[in-house]
Amino acid sequence: MADGYFFRGKSVSFEEAFPDIKELNIEGTEGDVAQHKKIFLNKDNLAISCSNPLCEDKVYNIKLGDLIAEMYRNKETLRKEIISCGGYENMGQGQKRRCLNHLNVKLEIKYKSPLIDKNG
Ligand SMILES: [Zn+2]
Repeated sequence: MADGYFFRGKSVSFEEAFPDIKELNIEGTEGDVAQHKKIFLNKDNLAISCSNPLCEDKVYNIKLGDLIAEMYRNKETLRKEIISCGGYENMGQGQKRRCLNHLNVKLEIKYKSPLIDKNG
């Protein structure tokens, strides 16, 4: 489980890894077909637990660090991702089914350097 940011094999702080980021907003909403629940995400909580009480493997595998790094490389300002829970519900009698919960993640990055308009 990653608990930090990695740069050339070294664990570094967020500021060291992404010196050009002025502001980072991460918004998360967890839900299944029936309900949606707002959850709070930031650059320091990389492992989010699934709220389904029947779910056995309660952690979303969000690679926020990788996502941020990819956005940073491309100077993207907005990214929306849907991450499915990798856990299972135990149905009894040795039966299992996939947990249907998922996480909608919205990442917004503001950069210190002015953006180059790719469409221009
Ligand atoms: Zn789950």
